[in-house]
Amino acid sequence: MVPISIDSFVNKHCKSNPAEEPSKLKKRIKEAVKDKKNGASCFNCNQEIWAIGSAVAYQGCFSCITGEADASEDYEIDEVCWS
Ligand SMILES: [Zn+2]
Repeated sequence: MVPISIDSFVNKHCKSNPAEEPSKLKKRIKEAVKDKKNGASCFNCNQEIWAIGSAVAYQGCFSCITGEADASEDYEIDEVCWS
């Protein structure tokens, strides 16, 4: 995955989703990052979660949220981007 800082992702996401409230999104991402650090697992397959997807959608891994296997071009928050 492509590492990105929380602030950069919030800026990027809110530019393409003007209805999103930056401070609320940031809070959800921080929670998802904390969950991932604590070993939270996907609702469906028990793999480690995708923090960004878990903040904007629901708690799951990249494949279960997006239905795609290739995560190489998608973002993950830098401090939990270890795969
Ligand atoms: Zn999964």
